[in-house]
Amino acid sequence: MKSRKKEPRDMRKSTKAIHAGEAEHSIYGEVSVPIFQSSSFAFPSAADGAARFAGEQPGYIYTRLGNPTVSALEENVAALENGYAGIATATGMAAVSSVFIAFLNQGDHVVSTNCIYGPSRIMLEKELVRFGVRSTFVDSSDLSNVERAIRPETKLVFVESPMNPSMSITDLRGAGEIAARHKLLYVVDNTFASPYLQRPLELGADIVINSLTKFINGHTDVVGGMIVTRTEENHKRLKKIVQTFGGTMDPHQAWLILRGVKTLPLRIERAQENAMKLADFLKSHPKVIWVSYPGLAEHPQHEIAKKQMDGFGTMISFGVKNGLEGGITVMNTVELITLAVSLGGVESLIEHPASMTHASLPREQREEAGILDELVRFSVGCEDFEDLREDLDQALGAIGD
Ligand code: PLP
Repeated sequence: MKSRKKEPRDMRKSTKAIHAGEAEHSIYGEVSVPIFQSSSFAFPSAADGAARFAGEQPGYIYTRLGNPTVSALEENVAALENGYAGIATATGMAAVSSVFIAFLNQGDHVVSTNCIYGPSRIMLEKELVRFGVRSTFVDSSDLSNVERAIRPETKLVFVESPMNPSMSITDLRGAGEIAARHKLLYVVDNTFASPYLQRPLELGADIVINSLTKFINGHTDVVGGMIVTRTEENHKRLKKIVQTFGGTMDPHQAWLILRGVKTLPLRIERAQENAMKLADFLKSHPKVIWVSYPGLAEHPQHEIAKKQMDGFGTMISFGVKNGLEGGITVMNTVELITLAVSLGGVESLIEHPASMTHASLPREQREEAGILDELVRFSVGCEDFEDLREDLDQALGAIGD
């Protein structure tokens, strides 16, 4: 293979999505990175084996510790996030838990967004508390809440923006300045935007997490996660934790996601165009009470979104008439749009957080996080806009007056 003209860090983002991580030296001139489906890698000699274990020689040992196909994906996403390096994990939650395990000790305190992905909140609130880690959840769209929640024992700030499912936005640079002032580790879950639209490491984050299950893979057929750090030091710490605790990625999984990431820019551009038009359509629909989409000028953090994102994304939340009943009617009446959780795939998915993903949260916690009974969460896909509009229109029409 010809040597590359450009290093991935010098490529523009659509080029990175296609080329970052591709094999420097192929065996047969293969264009696609092969699946290295092997758990172990032979050493040329005992001395080479010893040197690899000592970290003095590059080369693979055992797939839990590293695998060439997985490395290609790590290089790709790290390039998209403009980070030092990436660590692929079995799922997005394995990425979240690895970060907490790596950096939190007994007695530490975490300040987090009150509208984070449910299992991330459960991990902090119900599981890590067993090990003496406490957490405070605040509406981080108002940064004074973040500042106020910091205690002497606070160690880490964990933010998700856009938030799930309210679609509120946190000023990522502002939250980073607060974290830096208090010398706290600043971690951002970038799943709802993806590095194509938002790069938190450029806005002050130390660590960025993505559930690859969503936009980066984009085809609703694989789960996976990725941790990208800004520094070598944090990368080394996390690598040790992921290798030891075992939440690593399988090469076949990595290969499928490598295939998906190449079209990330095309998929997002198309779905985002649909999302903007659908948000406008919903706004004027008689059965819709409100629409939360960062691309709408009336979204409370529209200006911040404009500043920190390259586009407004593909996720819309909206409130329908008749509360819980209205939401459930839409779920049962859509025909083309699939009633399923998850997001970021080529197909449009719809769900009703109050009766599904967030039903286990106490009502008062749900309402505090903006998860009202009437809220419908819509992950807009790449279908034809007119087909999506027609389907939503007929489903909304089924809501009684
Ligand atoms: N973070 C966010 C914002 C998510 O939406 C999800 C999954 O929906 C996760 C993390 C967890 O990812 P996974 O399901 O791949 O474990």
